[in-house]
Amino acid sequence: MHPEVSFHEHRTAAYIAAELRGMTGLEVTQLTPTSVLAVRRGTRPGRTVLLRADIDALPMQEENSFEFVSQNPGSMHACGHDGHTAILLGVAQLVSETPDWDGELRMIFQHAEEQNPGGAEELVFGTSLMDGVDVVTGLHLNSQLPTGVVAVRAGAFMAAPDNIHVTVLGKGGHAAHPEEAVDPIAVGAQIVTNLQHVVSRGVSALDALVVSVTYFQAGTTTNVIPDRAELKGTVRTFDAALRERAPELIERVVRGVCEAHGARYEFTFERGYRPLINDERVAGVLRQVALDVVGEARTREAQPTMGGEDFSAYLQKAPGAYFNVGSGTPELASDYPHHHPRFTLDEAALLTGVQMMYAAARRLAHD
Ligand SMILES: [Zn+2]
Ligand SMILES: [Zn+2]
Repeated sequence: MHPEVSFHEHRTAAYIAAELRGMTGLEVTQLTPTSVLAVRRGTRPGRTVLLRADIDALPMQEENSFEFVSQNPGSMHACGHDGHTAILLGVAQLVSETPDWDGELRMIFQHAEEQNPGGAEELVFGTSLMDGVDVVTGLHLNSQLPTGVVAVRAGAFMAAPDNIHVTVLGKGGHAAHPEEAVDPIAVGAQIVTNLQHVVSRGVSALDALVVSVTYFQAGTTTNVIPDRAELKGTVRTFDAALRERAPELIERVVRGVCEAHGARYEFTFERGYRPLINDERVAGVLRQVALDVVGEARTREAQPTMGGEDFSAYLQKAPGAYFNVGSGTPELASDYPHHHPRFTLDEAALLTGVQMMYAAARRLAHD
């Protein structure tokens, strides 16, 4: 009911910290202003395992009418991170009730997954969180999978979500005399069309690449040709070499189209999260855990997705794997896509999430 957007999760973090402090045997600290870390130190030998949940909401208006609908206008838990938070709190409760623990368990309630550069970046590269961590795991609820299904895969799982910003600089003028102007709208439209050729003609069909122009802003009225048009979009890749080539592939189109029509341009390529590549061994352990927890009929091979996820930052410091737990139940209308204004969860998925994370934590302490 109280969603807070990326880097503003103050009330959320305070709530989580208070809940954790009410559990015995956990050390609770905050490495950044809006994240919370809980640590359970066991007395028996074992690895140091990190479990991660993200806690932030999205800047969008909820269109649901539940009694637990968002009380913060313009903020909504439309990605299910409130579910991830609830799951990890449930795991923490179970862990605190477990008489002894093998190795050390760290549970990070991470802020700001939804906004570049992401909360994981500062936790992983700017704090001691990852010091001594042997293995890491985390989950995302998935409304497009049936509730209770667990999906795991080894290798490339989620894409690098980079962004492009293009400003087409034309020459303004009277709309009745386009020959005296350089129309940035006509040029921008050509750029949008031609960028699709980068995907369909410039890159092998076997290499995954998505280029989507998602923002096109220009002009003020009907009889004025504006002097500039602004375009933004996203570029998604898995392959590191293709990701390196992408800025030049795209700028070449922008440059060529602008030159052909006498316009100039400004171009920036903004790096987003790294691609999320699951460790093979850890993914294998998670698959075994899924077979134990939900059984073979509900254990699936996850499909790679062009979505991005800053969980990839943790994987730069320790082996690990990310997995999905289905939360889609058509009868409960919990199968709207993530980031939809009517998104919601089938709360039965929370139980599967807790069981999976707790069992994974215990198993990864040794396997
Ligand atoms: Zn999201
Ligand atoms: Zn998410």
